Amino acid sequence: MAPERCWLRRFSEEPCEGRIIRAHLVDRQLLKRERLAHLIDDPRTWVPACGGMTGLGGHHGAADPMLSARRELVVPRWAIPEELELLMSAVGLSWWLAARYGERPTDTHVRPGADADP
Ligand SMILES: [Zn+2]
Repeated sequence: MAPERCWLRRFSEEPCEGRIIRAHLVDRQLLKRERLAHLIDDPRTWVPACGGMTGLGGHHGAADPMLSARRELVVPRWAIPEELELLMSAVGLSWWLAARYGERPTDTHVRPGADADP
């Protein structure tokens, strides 16, 4: 089995650090509050990412506003996987994605950055 890659690596200049862990794109606290705790283990709500020495570092720590006050790593809304967009829409939490990752691009045919790579 191929090792899982860090999903957050592409948004950072920093190299990966530590083991690959589950990095939640949706706050676990939010899911609990909304009585959706069963979604915490749903693979649509998290991505594999490096977690540094403790699981709270690496790209996981850099992307989490609770762990990183500076929030060095910003995930843009267009990068949110479609399965998660659909899930959050189905449970009425698209507003949370907008609050956390920004508004969704209106033209989904042209993803910003899609042809930005040389
Ligand atoms: Zn990483």
